[in-house]
Amino acid sequence: MKTGNPILKQEKNKNMLCIVCKTGTTEEKIVNHSTVKDGYFINVKNVKAQVCNNCGEVYFEKEAALYIEQQVEEALQSVEKREVVKI
Ligand SMILES: [Zn+2]
Repeated sequence: MKTGNPILKQEKNKNMLCIVCKTGTTEEKIVNHSTVKDGYFINVKNVKAQVCNNCGEVYFEKEAALYIEQQVEEALQSVEKREVVKI
């Protein structure tokens, strides 16, 4: 299972060099993150992330990764309550 990126142990709000393109630096943005779990497509909105200003790679800090995890679990629980229909 994918959780947070272990590289992100730096201070909050501190821009860092992108490890993918090694050219751009990251800046804080609010993004929508979609993921697939247990055969369901789940879109988590308004997640704080660091986004590379060169290649667009998205990094989530531990806090954001936990938030995503939580939202995904809640969405899957809604499925069980039939509030969400599988597409
Ligand atoms: Zn980059």
